[in-house]
Amino acid sequence: MTTIRYGNKSLELAENQSVLDCLNGHGIPIPYACRTGVCQNCLMRATDGTPPAASQIGLKDSLRLSSHFLACACRPTENLDVALPDDALPSTHALVSGLELLNHDIMRVDLEALSPFEYRAGQFINLVRDSSHVRSYSLASVPRLDKHIHLHVRRLPKGRVSGWIHEELSIGQRVEIRGPSGDCIYLPGKPEQALLLIGTGSGLAPLYGILRDALDQGHQGPVRLFHGSRDFHGLYLMDELRKMERRFPNFSYFPCVSASHVPAGFVAGRVHEAALRETHELKGWRVFLCGHPEMVKQTRKSAYLAGAALRDIHADAFNVSHA
Ligand SMILES: Cc1cc2nc3c(=O)[nH]c(=O)nc-3n(C[C@H](O)[C@H](O)[C@H](O)COP(=O)(O)OP(=O)(O)OC[C@H]3O[C@@H](n4cnc5c(N)ncnc54)[C@H](O)[C@@H]3O)c2cc1C
Repeated sequence: MTTIRYGNKSLELAENQSVLDCLNGHGIPIPYACRTGVCQNCLMRATDGTPPAASQIGLKDSLRLSSHFLACACRPTENLDVALPDDALPSTHALVSGLELLNHDIMRVDLEALSPFEYRAGQFINLVRDSSHVRSYSLASVPRLDKHIHLHVRRLPKGRVSGWIHEELSIGQRVEIRGPSGDCIYLPGKPEQALLLIGTGSGLAPLYGILRDALDQGHQGPVRLFHGSRDFHGLYLMDELRKMERRFPNFSYFPCVSASHVPAGFVAGRVHEAALRETHELKGWRVFLCGHPEMVKQTRKSAYLAGAALRDIHADAFNVSHA
């Protein structure tokens, strides 16, 4: 039986139970959001014992070396003493400066950071509703081009944070954001490389940031954006993207619709299938995948099989917690 110690409490882990589930199950409120080792909200530190390697995937070296780990991915096989970290993600306050519906269920939220906030387009922040409701949202803005931070938030049925954002958040309201995190970003240095961007729903948010960042930095290689939804009402920013297509000859935009009725000007089929149909050879391409976790998982595999190097595939799965 493996035991974890937190403060003066000694707790036994059930078989294959994560440290996060064990602590939360005993009423110890460890923050979390995605529960899949992505958002890093549940960062903790081992004060005695070694956290399993799987619980340190995605952490920067300084955190790994100082025994930090992600509680949701931590299933130790040896006893471990754990604590909340002193150096969790930096927290900043911001004012809501704009709220605009981009389609029937996606809201653009503009935030004005109240203290210096450095980020790269395509990273994500954790938005705090209250201590037990923290969710990740990707950054659609480009710091060089946009005065404020932009998020695209899709309202989920009975979603506790997305519902609050759509129904209760108001202009001028002060919110806490944590981060930024993530490495789904455009890195300059290979301006001739071909870029393939594939996203579903609000998965366009990071891609829109990455796209504008790349084109603004003079990216020369072909840049293809495939944005998909079941029907065309689920797409958004179509006019802006078509305008960008006219302005940048190396950029092509493919709005994809998977339902049976496909209006003229749209690509029929699921977004990742359409993207790999149009671009079947991916050797040398850099690929960005954002949105529905299943799409991201499948396409990562297909892009690799189509020739993209694993180091050139960047992905953010918008995992939703069910706890
Ligand atoms: C790295 C990352 C980046 C992200 N970026 C974005 C982004 O840019 N835009 C965006 O819109 N989203 C993004 N997300 C998703 C976002 O973080 C939230 O998960 C999403 O907004 C839902 O949160 P919520 O609180 O509204 O829903 P929750 O209250 O967490 O519920 C989620 C859904 O599950 C259902 N549910 C809840 N509990 C149960 C249960 N026990 N059984 C069955 N169903 C249940 C709810 O009804 C709801 O439909 C991102 C996620 C990650 C990990």
